[in-house]
Amino acid sequence: MRTLAQPALSSVDELVINWHVTEACNFRCRYCYAQWDKAPDPRELFHDEAASRQLLEQLAAYFSPDNCRNPLRDALAWSSLRLNLAGGEPLLYGLRILWVARQAHSLGMRVSIITNGSLLTRDRIGELAPLLTVLGVSIDTADAAIARDIGRGSRNGSVLDLVELQQGLRFAREINPALHLKLNTVVSALNHREDMSALIGAIGPDRWKVLRMLPSVTDALAVTAEAFERFVDRHRCMGLPMCVEDNHDMSQSYIMIDPQGRFFQNAPTLKGYRYSRPILEVGVGSAFAQIEFEADGFVSRYVADGVGA
Ligand code: SF4
Repeated sequence: MRTLAQPALSSVDELVINWHVTEACNFRCRYCYAQWDKAPDPRELFHDEAASRQLLEQLAAYFSPDNCRNPLRDALAWSSLRLNLAGGEPLLYGLRILWVARQAHSLGMRVSIITNGSLLTRDRIGELAPLLTVLGVSIDTADAAIARDIGRGSRNGSVLDLVELQQGLRFAREINPALHLKLNTVVSALNHREDMSALIGAIGPDRWKVLRMLPSVTDALAVTAEAFERFVDRHRCMGLPMCVEDNHDMSQSYIMIDPQGRFFQNAPTLKGYRYSRPILEVGVGSAFAQIEFEADGFVSRYVADGVGA
């Protein structure tokens, strides 16, 4: 990890590590790298219990707020560590993700998950919600036709049932009143004209993160800065807990691990990602030294966002 700018020591409540456990997803968003209906990839580390446990133990030790040997501490201080489970769609493998969440929890990490919401059954919510500090759901539109056009639907054409989702999220809050509920919306060429205020207001998240589609993999569906700004302006005075993230804010400001257990990072000049060697081969410290991470970018995003990634 090279901290690109070394500001005075900044401090945050928690450091967030995003583990993209799988590339598989039951949706097929046209702007996404995830692969629709992909069979479980044996190289995806989280299908292997022993390897997953090893990874989690190494992360918990290396990024412990008490580990003075982590060079990131020259740029940043944090008092707790959160593992954010992402995909693909992490709930495609519901029991496995539950196991990972329990392991991380037992190692002293806070745990969060970001899901497309389609597999948030009442049973799954009942098992997961007590383990989570943040539940994130990605919702790009309130309009079923736009959802289908984006690719936010399953093979049979069914899209997220927003009424069921609202019931599920209410249930999650009932069983874990401290749960922080977060919605993510990616603004693209297909939804930038939409008014989502009624839906967001009805769900009542603690945070609504609005992201401009990042052309990491493809330029398809990209929106101009002006169109993105108009979407933001349309929702700004609605009393919604909106936080806005443009492309620049996203570059190198996340700590991300890919399904094969490598750190990876986007870069402003690249269409695609840079990867470290696998963490379990070279160790967390060596792998982390192979990617770039902007601690000050993480801090400003974390402060603006309130709950980080
Ligand atoms: S739901 Fe998320 S992971 Fe799945 S295809 Fe869409 S953006 Fe990708």
